[in-house]
Amino acid sequence: MAESLLEIEVLNRIKAEAKKNGCSEKEVIQAYIQKMNQDNHDEFQRTPIKERIVLVPQCLRESDCKAPLGENGYVCQHCNPECQVNQISKAADRLGYKGVYILPGGSMAQKIIDFSKPHAILGIACEKEALLGGLLLKKLGIIGRGILLFRDGCVNTLVKVADVLKILGVKLDRRQDTKG
Ligand code: SF4
Repeated sequence: MAESLLEIEVLNRIKAEAKKNGCSEKEVIQAYIQKMNQDNHDEFQRTPIKERIVLVPQCLRESDCKAPLGENGYVCQHCNPECQVNQISKAADRLGYKGVYILPGGSMAQKIIDFSKPHAILGIACEKEALLGGLLLKKLGIIGRGILLFRDGCVNTLVKVADVLKILGVKLDRRQDTKG
């Protein structure tokens, strides 16, 4: 994906920050996301669930995914109870979230925000997309929380689903209900 000048500038700043502190760029971004999550924790919790959306990266889908690509991202067919996207989207739907969107790329986030007008967003992403997404939400005045993939890449990525469900608001004894 081509990067805008602003994105290049932000990523260059991260590089410089990492060099200055003798750490990796990943660590700088992880610290940024952690701070964003701490700063936004209370306001995210206070935002009614029907005003929140969830953004999920397409790489979390199963390799034999049946979801067609629609106008607002991939449309999950709930074909696999083990699929991370399925578990997250079913839980969010049951809780009453405004929407769950499976993004083919980070650039679609703005479009989803424009039409769904959420007050808060829980986004799952790799470090780079989470950073750019977090900055976009800050600019737009939307409450953002981010969960980083613990295995990133273009396909077969992994997230800690239990952490996602907890932030969504799933109670411990209801977690099993997300399968199926
Ligand atoms: S459950 Fe949804 S996202 Fe997962 S593989 Fe099936 S169609 Fe794709």
